[in-house]
Amino acid sequence: MASQTGSIVQQSLNALMNDGNFLPTLKGETREQAFTSLGAILSTPNQVHKSFLRIALENGKVVRIPSFRVQHNNALGPYKGGIRFHESVNEDEVINLAALMTLKNALHDVPFGGGKGGVIVNPRELSVKELHLICKKYVQYFSDSLGPDKDIPAPDVGTGEREMDWMMAEYKSIRPGTPYRGSFTGKSLVNGGSLGRREATGKGVYFTFRYMLHDFLKEQEKYLTETNNIFARTALQYKDKPLKIAVQGFGNVGSVAALEAFQCTYLQNKVVSVSDRNVMLYNSDGLDIPALVKYTAGNGGDLPKNENQLKEAEVKAHIHDRDEVLTQEVDVLILAALEDQIHKDNMEKINAKIIVEGANAPVTGEADNYLSEKGVIIMPDILANAGGVIVSYFEWLQGRETQFLSEEKVFKMLFEKMQETMDTILPQFFGDPFPLRQNCYIHSVMKLSTVLYTQGKLY
Ligand code: GLU
Repeated sequence: MASQTGSIVQQSLNALMNDGNFLPTLKGETREQAFTSLGAILSTPNQVHKSFLRIALENGKVVRIPSFRVQHNNALGPYKGGIRFHESVNEDEVINLAALMTLKNALHDVPFGGGKGGVIVNPRELSVKELHLICKKYVQYFSDSLGPDKDIPAPDVGTGEREMDWMMAEYKSIRPGTPYRGSFTGKSLVNGGSLGRREATGKGVYFTFRYMLHDFLKEQEKYLTETNNIFARTALQYKDKPLKIAVQGFGNVGSVAALEAFQCTYLQNKVVSVSDRNVMLYNSDGLDIPALVKYTAGNGGDLPKNENQLKEAEVKAHIHDRDEVLTQEVDVLILAALEDQIHKDNMEKINAKIIVEGANAPVTGEADNYLSEKGVIIMPDILANAGGVIVSYFEWLQGRETQFLSEEKVFKMLFEKMQETMDTILPQFFGDPFPLRQNCYIHSVMKLSTVLYTQGKLY
């Protein structure tokens, strides 16, 4: 990830300064001082825990695997954020992702702080037994800093229910007597997971832009036609129009967002392109997403990558180069793979007018500025992909009450929460000249600064 924590936070603080609304009760020098200490608090994580997990592989070789748990800020509640298993994850990236979690939770009024974990491994190259050992060791090494009221990890890239179950079980044996169900979220149902947690991020991603372009515009159209805000003009182009959508990434987030678009019967949304680590598939009439979901489930998560496999999947599509997904002639581009996908070398070739960040930080700062100046609406990660952590919060609550909600209720609560955030942010966004990311940052930092100030931690 190119950007540093400093720059993520610096962007939010600069946005706040431009907005001129920073802690309205403070004036002059006090305001300057508070601003400086807020910058210091948010640009540095509270703690960075590091360890080498010592694992004996099945072939007898002993390896030491670098791993991290970053606790960025807990002003709003216990640290919260996923654990990423990836061969190229590094300390800086985990610090940045933890800072994003602080901002994400603040934005959606989820009573958690921000944290993130990382383990430098390629999970595809390890056996189930080796992965199990890594999960157990991770908890053994970091258990002092974790816990249902301290720091609550969850799945991220390369981890899922299975890993969370293993980690929770290890935590339970290390800390008997603690309310262990709340120590990890994203667990399987039998271990106290929540219905809907797996689909939550993808459903939330689709919800955010559908809500903006459909429900919100329906109410606000009259007011918006009178403004000459560049982003309002972009949004109005798409009101009640059939949308062509491309989705980068067909994992937990991308496949669910694509399926939501496919199944939304009252809008004419067509998913024309989807991609994964091997290929991009294209069909100008719209791809058969349920058939692709079915195929990937039985094929290690991979999309059909040759004519035979397409036949087997019973899907009509043309096979293209994987990265073509980014430059498709579509209205909406959903980025649901990894970070830094749109950057200075490809930003000029992007055709979509609405970009939705299902992954964390898929657009670099430079590309973000360039596209925003052209009126492209980028729905940022902290707004669009918060479904996962919101339902994690519901899971954590259900664990405390040992009472479980139906899937219908979970999704209803999820959409209500995301709608509340959108209803706060969107009128500001269409009314002032800042991109949506800046608006979201302003909101999050205002919330954090108010809490820190009232707690006497900001002078
Ligand atoms: N890893 C997800 C995220 O980036 C979910 C975190 C959680 O559920 O705590 O938002």
